[in-house]
Amino acid sequence: MTLRVVVPEESEALPFTVEPGGARVASKEIPERIHRILEGLLDGGAVLAPRGTDGTDDADRAERLAEAVHGKELLEHLRHGVPEGAQSVLDDAFAAPGLAQETPVTRGVWPAALGAAAAAVRAAGLTARHGESSYALVRPPGHHAGPGWYGGYCFLNNAVIAARTLQEEGASRVGILDVDYHLGNGTLACVQGDPTLPFASVHSGRPEDFPYAFEPGPGLFAVGSDPGPEAYLALVRNAVSHLRGQDVEALVVSVGYDVLAGDPHGSWSLAPEAFGPVAALVAEQRLPTVFVQEGGYGLPSLRGAARALALEASR
Ligand SMILES: [Zn+2]
Repeated sequence: MTLRVVVPEESEALPFTVEPGGARVASKEIPERIHRILEGLLDGGAVLAPRGTDGTDDADRAERLAEAVHGKELLEHLRHGVPEGAQSVLDDAFAAPGLAQETPVTRGVWPAALGAAAAAVRAAGLTARHGESSYALVRPPGHHAGPGWYGGYCFLNNAVIAARTLQEEGASRVGILDVDYHLGNGTLACVQGDPTLPFASVHSGRPEDFPYAFEPGPGLFAVGSDPGPEAYLALVRNAVSHLRGQDVEALVVSVGYDVLAGDPHGSWSLAPEAFGPVAALVAEQRLPTVFVQEGGYGLPSLRGAARALALEASR
C-alpha cells in the first residue's frame, strides 16, 4: 500500500498571524510544522505525489466545492476582506455561532486556504484513482471552518472538501474521522443533517479548550482528562465503529498531532508512537482513505508521530 503525500506550494504563504490588537505575532501554526511532518512521513515509507499538470483544475474544483460548503459570502470575505492599507481584519460577522472571532484574515489567507483545499482535492482524486491512501499535508488547517464561518486557524474545510471530492468520484457515503485534540466544530456543522457524510470525533471536552462548548451527539467522543494510550485507542476504535455502522465506502481522517505530550494547544500526554496503532486501525478498514492535516503544534513530536502513522498506513 502506497501512502501518497500532497503538499501545496502555498503552505509558506502564511508566515505569521495577527493578534486582535493588530500586533504581528509568530503563530504556532507555522510552515516548520509541515517540514517536520513531511520528513516523518517520508521516513515512514510515504512517497511525495508528483505535482500534476492539472493543478489549475484542482484549484478550480476546490473553489467550486468550497463555495458549495461555505457559501459565496465567506469566500468573498477571504478573497477581498482586507482593505487596502490594512494588514488584517478580525470580523465577528464570520465567527462560529456563539464565539468571538480569534483568527484574523491576513493578505496571504486566500491563496494559502485555496491552495490547501486544492491539495485536499488532489489527494482525494489520487485515492479515488488508485484505491490507496493519500495524505493532504496542508496548512492552514480546516476543521474549525463551518458553513459561512471560520476560526481556530481554519478558513476552508479541507476535510469536507476532500469528502465531497470522493463523492464526486463515486463514493456514496464517506466517513470523516477526526482525531485532532479539538472538536472539528466546523466539520460537524458542515455535515450535520447529511447522512452521506457521517462524522466521528475523539477530542478534549474541557471547557477551556477550543471551541469551548458543544452539545454531545452520536459519534462525538469527548474526553474529560488525559486518556493515556490505551483508552485513547479504544475511543478511536469506537469512533471508527460508529462510521462503519453507517456503511461508509471511504474515509477522510482529520489528523491532529496536538493530542501529543508537550503540544502548546493540548493537555494530554500521548507519545508520538500513539499514531502507529491509530493508523493501523484505519488501515485495517481496507477503505480508500484520505488523511488531511489539521492541528499539531509541538514541533519536537511531529516528525516521530508522522513517521509512526506512515509506517502503518503504507504497509
Ligand atoms: Zn487541534
